[in-house]
Amino acid sequence: MAARGDACECLSVPFASLTLEGELGMDAELGEASLWRCARCGRAWLRYLYELEGFTGSGRWYLGAIAKPDFATLDASRCRQTLESLDWYFFGGSYFDGRTGKASGPLA
Ligand SMILES: [Zn+2]
Repeated sequence: MAARGDACECLSVPFASLTLEGELGMDAELGEASLWRCARCGRAWLRYLYELEGFTGSGRWYLGAIAKPDFATLDASRCRQTLESLDWYFFGGSYFDGRTGKASGPLA
């Protein structure tokens, strides 16, 4: 595991070396939450996948690094709020015309 503070590629390229660690289920808006981990630095990432059924171009995902994943309290219903509390998160998907970038604050 790399030392803390190293700029791992997972911080600049979303999903660069992430593997799925576990599904956290869906929230009230039918967004899917899951937990990922970087194979290089061990950082934990929270992904939120959201799509309005029947609306093409509405698919979007958000991916944010979380410092201390607590499996006991981490659940889908808090996924949005956790991401919105981070300094930044990645976003992407058809809703953004396939663009990816970094943002912070409320999820679109
Ligand atoms: Zn990493």
